[in-house]
Amino acid sequence: MTNGHKKLKYQKIGDILIVKDELNETEIKELVKRTKCKTILKYETHITRDLRVPTTKTLYGTETETINKEHGCLFSIDASKIMWSMGNLEERKRIATKSNKEEIVVDMFAGIGYFTIPLAKYSAPKKIYALELNPNSYRHLCKNILLNKVENIVVPLNIDNRDFDETIKADRILMGYVVKTSEFLEKAFQILANNGTIHYHDTVPEKIMNTRPVEQLKSIGHKYGFELEEYEIIRIKKYSPGVSHIVVDAKFKKI
Ligand code: SAM
Repeated sequence: MTNGHKKLKYQKIGDILIVKDELNETEIKELVKRTKCKTILKYETHITRDLRVPTTKTLYGTETETINKEHGCLFSIDASKIMWSMGNLEERKRIATKSNKEEIVVDMFAGIGYFTIPLAKYSAPKKIYALELNPNSYRHLCKNILLNKVENIVVPLNIDNRDFDETIKADRILMGYVVKTSEFLEKAFQILANNGTIHYHDTVPEKIMNTRPVEQLKSIGHKYGFELEEYEIIRIKKYSPGVSHIVVDAKFKKI
């Protein structure tokens, strides 16, 4: 979103603004008046280790927790500790209607419930196991389950997804992670049900985005006795120059 006069760029998460540039007193006052925000945070760096923690500087206000509304869902979030990706907006909407009441779903990288909450609300599967390692994201995930009244569907677990109980089999697995997603494919196939689907996210050089992820899925799947039945590759957004964030919807059957 852009301020009409001075082109001050910001992202709005609930009633908190996120900016990338330093602002002077006049610019801060103008933004507060225009947007009625309670806090302005400047994001300095984005990702720390695997836990998606931003480093922020507070330019205005004190409160960093807010509730963001999207696609009829409510997301409690601490904007100083957790990122909200606007680039994934369409994917959060797309995934919402992918399941049905017969399915067991595992969200291996649940965060604050970015995919889990819309999926629970609009597809109402039998169960969603929402796995999240970061204690702060997990706290908001639990809050969001209650805020959206999906506690009968979602089981939140504050664990490393590699420790998830392998006797539970998933009809659908969400792998909403980037850069190192392939490292978690072995675990995904260990918990995949016979006719299961994996939504596999990855960041891939554009030249090989139609080949590498599918080859990885085929080869690791084969090791666990699965055959790729059908797939679709969807580009979510540009990740870096020449690199795209993509998702592969991959349906497997046990050989
Ligand atoms: N799936 C959401 C999306 O795509 O918008 C959230 C993505 S966020 C990049 C990844 C989340 O995975 C973070 O909240 C991080 O803490 C969590 N995470 C990273 N490694 C994990 C692991 N081994 N087990 C469980 N959660 C993990």
